[in-house]
Amino acid sequence: MKSLNLLFCAFVLFSFFACKKNPVTEPEKAKAVVSSNQEKPDYVLVIHGGAGTILKKNMDPETEKSITAALNEALTIGENILKGGGTSLDAITKTINHLENSPFFNAGKGAVFTNAGTNELDASIMDGKTQNAGAVGGVKTIKNPIDLARAVMDDSPHVMLSGEGAENFAKEQGIEQVEPSYFYTKKRFDSLQKIKAKAKQTGYLETYPDWKYGTVGAAALDKNGNLAAGTSTGGMTNKKWGRIGDAPIIGAGTYANNETCALSSTGHGEYFIRYAVAYDISAMTEYTDKTFQEAADFVINQKLKSKGGSGGVIGVDKDGNVAMPFNTEGMYRGYVKPGERVVKIYKE
Ligand code: ASP
Repeated sequence: MKSLNLLFCAFVLFSFFACKKNPVTEPEKAKAVVSSNQEKPDYVLVIHGGAGTILKKNMDPETEKSITAALNEALTIGENILKGGGTSLDAITKTINHLENSPFFNAGKGAVFTNAGTNELDASIMDGKTQNAGAVGGVKTIKNPIDLARAVMDDSPHVMLSGEGAENFAKEQGIEQVEPSYFYTKKRFDSLQKIKAKAKQTGYLETYPDWKYGTVGAAALDKNGNLAAGTSTGGMTNKKWGRIGDAPIIGAGTYANNETCALSSTGHGEYFIRYAVAYDISAMTEYTDKTFQEAADFVINQKLKSKGGSGGVIGVDKDGNVAMPFNTEGMYRGYVKPGERVVKIYKE
């Protein structure tokens, strides 16, 4: 009897240590399921055209059609590059160029107006392979600010240039410049007048921000497993004093790291800067058991929301998983990978 008792105790102790050695936590289980159920796609491209108060009941069908078409065209441009074995950096640059050239988005042509009636553009790009990055803030004559951000990354020893200096660098690099009037669109100019009239009654603080975003961004995974992300914007309507938002801030508006993920943000930039949103999501996947989608959703729908920060992110992780969470009414967004394409505007 004594030896039976001893044997039982030994068994209990053995089982305890065997379990302890390999503790499987719940998030790890979830992570394992995600990676074993899904094969890594050859390539992935994810885009956004801004988040905000985008409601079906306020949208006229023609505009909805045009915006959907522009998002699809942008996806096709980037997908063709990735399909042909091009780099994620080239894919996101050309995809963003298409959205910058469309008057429907708040980037390049169609950028919002500042309080002074000018258009001041911000953009950034990051290479997940080298973690090299380039950014520009407050430029007024650059047709495609993402191209200038790319030149800052590729052809300067710096990460971020602003204002006049950035425009001088553009000249040296042969980046296309336009008259400031190129950026004029009636719709954006009218929005500025509306906000200014409201601000006269309630003050600048109350009318800032106007919840019609439209910043554009893209993130991609190429056939070589390299990630990249970029963002381009006119900022926020009625912004003053040379205000620069999150779009050109690496770690807030844009982030890419081959070990984790690539992300682009849109929303109330001040919050995205304060909470280092894009880097926070990447760090969470690096240092915790959260999957990419769980991390992105947590930061946007819990952390940021609880602080009063509105907006969303789009991104792709190193295994090709896509995330597009937002805490606003809608977000122009979409992704493409072999055999699958999605374009959406509103909440499900
Ligand atoms: N995040 C941009 C900014 O604060 C605005 C946007 O997303 O439309 O400048």
